[in-house]
Amino acid sequence: MAVPKRRTSKKVKNQRRTHKKLLVPGLVECPNCGELTKSHHVCSSCGHYDGKEVIAK
Ligand SMILES: [Zn+2]
Repeated sequence: MAVPKRRTSKKVKNQRRTHKKLLVPGLVECPNCGELTKSHHVCSSCGHYDGKEVIAK
């Protein structure tokens, strides 16, 4: 059976799967106020969703 010649270094091990975690998923800019909000959620700062005011502030 094939066996690795060298142990994988801590650096190389920690570099795995880092490219997927760079951005917070599902975070978009609100088209009304420009604040960062979760997509498919009502904006927490202005209360708008899909171009309409859902929660009056
Ligand atoms: Zn907003």
